[in-house]
Amino acid sequence: MGGRSRLRSLLRETAGERCEWIGCAEAGTEMAHLHSVGMGGRESADCLENVAWMCFRHARMTDGLFTSWPDFKQAHDQLFGRGWEERIPMGRWAFERAERLAEHVKRRRET
Ligand SMILES: [Zn+2]
Repeated sequence: MGGRSRLRSLLRETAGERCEWIGCAEAGTEMAHLHSVGMGGRESADCLENVAWMCFRHARMTDGLFTSWPDFKQAHDQLFGRGWEERIPMGRWAFERAERLAEHVKRRRET
């Protein structure tokens, strides 16, 4: 079993059934990287602290992909509270999202 599929199994055991996005009650279906792996696959990104078990929609959003602004905005309201798009410069959205989710999954998994 390769490193990535071993990590995925470990994540499933650690995270449980539900999507780990803040406030989401959907079942998780896939592993998402919080800070992106980048081209060529950075080894250091493949650790339990940098991955989350997520539903399809939130896994896409973790990669910065979305189908509509209202959907994206609403999901990020759950992470940062309303008005985040005014407070956080656009160039930092991906970084701040990753940091917030990393903090959230850490606390969630401890309890
Ligand atoms: Zn979700």
